[in-house]
Parts: sequence; C-alpha cells; structure tokens
Amino acid sequence: MRILVINSGSSSIKYQVVESESGEVLLKGATERIAAGGHAEALAGILEEAAAHTPQAVGHRVVHGGRSFTDSARIDASVEAAIESCVPLAPLHNPANLAGIRAAREVLPDLPQVAVFDTAFHARMPNRARSYALPQDLAEEYGIVRYGFHGSSHSCVAQRAATHLRRPLTELRLISCHLGNGASVCAIEYGTSVETSMGMTPLEGLAMGTRSGDLDPGAVLTLCSELGIKETDTLLNRKSGIAGVSGISNDMRDLEAKAAEGHEGARLAIKIFAHRVRKYIGAYAAVMGGVDAVILTGGIGQNSASMRQRILQRLEFLGLQFEIFANNDAKLSEANPVVDISASHARARSLVVATNEELTIARETARLAKADAPATDLSIPIAISARHLHLDRETMDILFGKGAELEVHKKISQPGQFASKQKVNLIGPRSRIDGVRVLGPLRSKNQVEVSRTDEYKLGVDAPIRGSGKVEGSAPIVLEGPKGTVELSEGLICARRHIHMTPADAEAFGVKQGDEVEVAITGGPRDLTFGDVLVRVKSSYLLEMHIDTDEANAAELSNGAEGDLIYSSAGEGVQGCLRKHAGS
Ligand code: ADP
Repeated sequence: MRILVINSGSSSIKYQVVESESGEVLLKGATERIAAGGHAEALAGILEEAAAHTPQAVGHRVVHGGRSFTDSARIDASVEAAIESCVPLAPLHNPANLAGIRAAREVLPDLPQVAVFDTAFHARMPNRARSYALPQDLAEEYGIVRYGFHGSSHSCVAQRAATHLRRPLTELRLISCHLGNGASVCAIEYGTSVETSMGMTPLEGLAMGTRSGDLDPGAVLTLCSELGIKETDTLLNRKSGIAGVSGISNDMRDLEAKAAEGHEGARLAIKIFAHRVRKYIGAYAAVMGGVDAVILTGGIGQNSASMRQRILQRLEFLGLQFEIFANNDAKLSEANPVVDISASHARARSLVVATNEELTIARETARLAKADAPATDLSIPIAISARHLHLDRETMDILFGKGAELEVHKKISQPGQFASKQKVNLIGPRSRIDGVRVLGPLRSKNQVEVSRTDEYKLGVDAPIRGSGKVEGSAPIVLEGPKGTVELSEGLICARRHIHMTPADAEAFGVKQGDEVEVAITGGPRDLTFGDVLVRVKSSYLLEMHIDTDEANAAELSNGAEGDLIYSSAGEGVQGCLRKHAGS
C-alpha cells in the first residue's frame, strides 16, 4: 500500500511517500524552521507535492497518546479529540501533530488517516516501571505515569536487530538507545518494552540536544521559584541538554569538533551525554536480568563512532565487547541497516542499527487502513491463571477462623475480583502444594483450580470444567492456619475461556457458550487453542484465561495476545473466521 507518512514536528515537517510492503521510498522531504502557527501553510505545499504520488492512506506520527491509546488508531473525530486532550502532556509536539492531521484531511479528504503514537509501544510496561513513587490517586488524576516515547523507533530497531541475529524477538533482551536530538533508552524484554527513560513527557532521562533529561525534582522546584514556571519550562526543554552545558550547539557534530579543539563546555557535554547512556544500559541490564544485545541508533548512535566508543567501553562485565575497527568503519544503509560491531567472542552483541520510523508508521497505517480492517483491534489479551481457589463462607470460617474476611492483596483484571492475602495448602494423596492463593470475594461454592501438572504432583485426577461447575469434581484437602477441610468435590482443571462484553461478542460474531479457536502466532512456539469457551457478560473485560501449562505450551507470558480464528457454534462448524486486522 502506498502511504504518505507525515511527521509534523515542533519546528520541522518530515514527509515520505512509501510503499509499505517493499519499503520503497517514492518521495522524501523535509521543511525546516517552521515558525509557530506556520504548519498549515507549510503542509499545503507538501501535500500538493505528495498527492502527485497518489497515496492510498496517510499515516501521522503522533507523539503523545496519553492513556487513551495503546495501539495505532484510525483517525475520526473522537480520536482527534483524544489527541487534543493530550496536548498538555506534550505541548511542543501534539499541537504540531494535530496541525498535520487537520491539513491532510482538508487536502486529501477521501483517504483514511491513521495516528501512530510514540507512546503505544510502551503500553504494556509493568506497573512498577510505569508508576512514579507518588500517591497513586494523585498520579491517576493528573496522568503522572511513565508513558515513554520513540516507540516507532525502538520497535523498528528491535525488529531489525532480531532479524539480523536470526532469533525471534520473543527470545531476546534488548537495550535500544535512540540517540538523536531527542534521545531515549528502552529495555525490550522478549518483544515488550518493560522500561524506558522518557517518562510522562519527553523531558525525562538522557541529556538531549536541548532537553535536560533527569534532574532532581528539588532542582526543578528551586528553578520554578527563582525563574517562574514558564521560564523553567523554556530552560529545561529548549536551553539545556548538550546545548545548554556546552553553550555552543545542540548538534553533536559541532560539539565533537569543538571538543577536539579543547573546548571545556563541549567536552563536559559529551561526557555527560555518554555517561548517562551508560548508566541506563547498566540499569536496564539489571531490570531484565541480563542483555543479549545493545542497539545504538538515531543520528548520534548511527553516525558518531567516538560516542559509541565512549558508551560501550568497559561494559565487558555485561558481555559487551566491541571491535574498535568495526566500530569506526560501521556504515549503514537501508539495504544494510544493521552492523554488528561486537568482538566475535562477545557474549552480548553491540549493534549499530539504522532506524526507520517512517517505514514503521507506513506499515502500521497500511494495517489499519485496509478497507476490511475492523475499526478496533480484534486480538484478545491473554491472562495466565496460576493455581488458585475460591471459598465459601463456611470453609473460610474453618480455614481462617470464624468471621475471617479476605483481605485484598491486589485487584485482578476482571472487575470486582481480587487476589487476597490469604493462602491455603492443598493436600493430595501423593503430595502437597503449599501457599495457593485465595481469590475474592467469597462465593457460594468452593472451587479449586489447578493445572494438569499440579494434578500429577497432588496425585489426583480432576475434570476439565467451566467455572462454577464443580458437581462431581475431584476431592481435595485444604489446610489453613486455623483448620483443615476435606472437600469431597471442588477440584477442577479450569476450562480455557474468553471473557467478553456483549459488544465484544458482536464484534467477534460469537455468543455466550460458543466454542472457538484462538491462534497464537509470531512467537517461538505457535499454537492454536481449540475448545475455548466464550463467556459473555456486560461486567467482563475482554480477556482469554488459560492456565500455566497452557501458557508454557505456547511459551506465553502475561500481556500476550491471540487471534480468534475459528468459531464452531451450536451443532456444527460455522466457518473460518479469521478476524484479526492485517492477518
Ligand atoms: P531527531 O531526534 O531530530 O530525529 P536525529 O536522529 O536525526 O534527530 O539525530 C540528529 C542528531 O544526530 C544531530 O543533532 C546530531 O547531533 C547528530 N549527528 C548526526 N550526524 C552525526 C555525526 N556524524 N556525528 C555526530 N553526531 C551526528
């Protein structure tokens, strides 16, 4: 598909017409130094030029998707309004992105327009990385969480690195360093962004061209009280970073030239820049418990051999050893977008990778713009249920004492449900499994859900059952701190199922009680699950539940997704419903 990609930035507009499949670039250009308010005019000329190449859809880079977007989106009035609502989070970028969207719609009203968000790649970051150490109700109210940016770049180079290493992304722990005028580091664990250095805004993290990056919040308070908020904003966003430290320029080439002449400010700026990247590499290796490859990309990462050397030196303890000559000679091109500069015996690879955010945006746009693509993503999030149990009032009293209540350990995804602090030991004829968590709230019937592996361990044979159907199921002994209960029935191996709302069911074309197939693809152990039960209720959240054995069989972890592919409702097979967008 032929896609016009527009990257409408704060002071420049970059654009390309690109064939999304082949990556062939038909038109490429940039307009620099656009004054505030000058975007519409600049875009009019660009769009006219692009229209001659007959694009079939327009893809826009949008910097901040806030909490509204965890994926790219076809632009309509509500998507546009949601992007507008994120303006306070990225005041330099989102207004420029919106100007691009509005101008494109005016000139090319018949083409589908797609927003591809810098933040979406990070949407599955674990909460411990996403959350700042603030009162969480406040953080929630003001949207103060780590969103992360540069998603199109980090995902592009991660994929390119995996292709180069001939290993699936889902087997790799990567640290991607996007070092351009804006700069960020991202820890990509088995294909998912699990940490990144930019935060609620693109100001956190590395020292950048003009942005300060990490700063003691106390220093921000001092600056605000001395200079005022507006001046502090300008200082930290536009007058800091390597430009501020050096007093020369935001361009690393200028600094390297001046440093070679002995300019102290330039030398300090270079050292701060490299030091901070190194610091994040070390931190992210710790976050992932190791690293298979470090990726250097962006204008600085791709072009500055001396900066790469400063960053990668003395990282042998992480298994990263690089060849000085290979580093000095690294030359990238679209045909050859990855150069491995590692020593041959290095345990972890050092890769210089050309990023191509435009191609990533073009491919996302093509995926969403296809005429038959559904408006919403129809893939199904997968949750893995570890062994657990539900208790009735009477059993709770015996195990934990009369009138004991379940205490919330943490909420789980289905509304109203929680993992409690209480744990119970399961005793079977062969052996026991201790510390099995009780889920709340209490129910009318006891139900213990284990995997097949657990059954072998316990020495029991439990039937596969849907939730609530415990009649005639297997016996088990429960041991709590205050007493023991011998259940004559209640032990089941949970039947895999999908929770969905009536609207989800309509979108998938299925109904309560249907059995469907769900395919897991793109991982190291592709697998199609049959006999998946559909459960529909308006209070449900769309999610497929499988147990740990099933997850291991497909090598899945929480946060994975599957595609509904086959629905056999009622008496017979009704047809093959391959529903996932782009598949
Ligand atoms: P942006 O974040 O604006 O997309 P880029 O990724 O294009 O930035 O990187 C631009 C930066 O790359 C320039 O500001 C410059 O500092 C740096 N750069 C480009 N080429 C070189 C080079 N040969 N040596 C050092 N730095 C370079």
